[in-house]
Amino acid sequence: MVQTSKNMAIIGSGLVGSLLAIYLKKQGHSVTVFDRRPDIRTVEFSGRSINLAMSNRGWRALRQVGLEETIKQIAIPMDKRAMHVVDKPMYFQPYGKEGEAIWSISRGILNRKMIDLAEKAGATFRFEEKVWDVNLPEAKIYTGESEKSEWKEYGFDMIFGCDGAFSRVRHKMQRRSRFDYSQHFIDVGYKELTIPPNEDGSHKLDKNSFHIWPRGKFMLIALPNLDGSFTCTLFLPFEGEVSFENINTEKDAKQFFKTYFPNVRKEIENLTSDFFKNPTSAMVTMKCYPWTYWNKVALVGDSAHAIVPFYGQGMNAGFEDIFVLNELIGKYGDNWDTIFEKYQEQRKPNADAIAELSYRNFMEMSSKTADPKFLLQKKIEKRFAEKHPDKWIPVYSRVTFSDRPYSEALEIGDRQEAIMKKIMELPDIEGEWDSEFVSQSILTLLSGN
Ligand code: FAD
Repeated sequence: MVQTSKNMAIIGSGLVGSLLAIYLKKQGHSVTVFDRRPDIRTVEFSGRSINLAMSNRGWRALRQVGLEETIKQIAIPMDKRAMHVVDKPMYFQPYGKEGEAIWSISRGILNRKMIDLAEKAGATFRFEEKVWDVNLPEAKIYTGESEKSEWKEYGFDMIFGCDGAFSRVRHKMQRRSRFDYSQHFIDVGYKELTIPPNEDGSHKLDKNSFHIWPRGKFMLIALPNLDGSFTCTLFLPFEGEVSFENINTEKDAKQFFKTYFPNVRKEIENLTSDFFKNPTSAMVTMKCYPWTYWNKVALVGDSAHAIVPFYGQGMNAGFEDIFVLNELIGKYGDNWDTIFEKYQEQRKPNADAIAELSYRNFMEMSSKTADPKFLLQKKIEKRFAEKHPDKWIPVYSRVTFSDRPYSEALEIGDRQEAIMKKIMELPDIEGEWDSEFVSQSILTLLSGN
């Protein structure tokens, strides 16, 4: 259905705001994007920002507006995990089936590209204009230097809040009656570190892998960059025996890397200097509802559903919001009341599901990776999935390599977990794990007998 052109404001020129600008321009709307920050294309960051893993849902949203190939040029496929566990040589775990991969992409580089593309599509960007207030029923926004300074008023037909986890637009909606809101910080923080390229510009580790050094309560990950470097993220508790609180001097940091990550020992100087140069950041799960106000305002991306990053799905979920919104636009044309209603009804259970899955992955990572029973269970599941790929698709694949709803992945995952709980109670499961008996037992449980 064709839409009547409207005057739209997008608050936030992050990944979600800039992709939404491209979609809305394609629908023939006039689009102005506001961001409190300077234009990221003019800011020096030497490629060192968070690296993200783009997977199926993100690619599908880009494909819809013809951008998949353009963005793949600035991304590196990772078809496996490279596991650096203690006391074992590094080994690989393929992510999915042959040909399936997630893609490493620098958030900063991607954001620059998306803004370029949105501008090319005809969107107007207004950087260094922070939105302080929103008049929801009249779709007006107020920008200015500070909360107390004189504000500029802008009137639009509609406003999209793509202003991230600490959204100002949502903040305004929160003050209304019957608006549900919750936020939960985890006790682990993260810090970006870098492994520079070899002198000839090549990568120091396998470049088509997502490198993981799991260490129980903490872990280091590394994702490849196009320039031969790796962006690493250290996830570490804020407080406790091994924690950010207890690494205060260069000596502490060097000792920490030497003890826990011996195979990156050569990089210690670099890691240590990054450790003190780069900030320690917190991670939050934020849930809210409703996501829309009349047919005037909608939240999209992290502003509606911030999640912890342990499934690599925050941006993917935000891009999927846009894909779904666009499908609804195609279906309901100018009926924005219905579009917004259906959008939030459809997306909310899925956002809650990926929030839950991401949080569980965090809990698993911090408490179960050293548990032999848990590792055995994973081994049995993997073997069964290899033998019966039509009967057992792991939750990871359902989230990462599929278009099916996140809520379905969670539900099926729970059913699989209940089956595995029973399997783990079988006598001598340690000795029998690879037997036909175990396979048959799973098949029986799957068929509900
Ligand atoms: P943001 O990126 O937060 O953008 C919001 C924008 O709004 C910003 O530009 C900000 O300046 C602007 N803004 C805010 N307030 C105002 C205001 N009042 N006025 C004007 N402008 C304003 N996702 C994945 O899919 N895969 C991954 O592997 C992955 N890894 C991650 C790893 C880490 C460590 C973290 C922290 C996140 C990760 N994510 C990942 C999540 C992903 O980064 C986010 O989901 C995504 O960036 C959200 O995009 P957004 O545009 O909704 O919000």
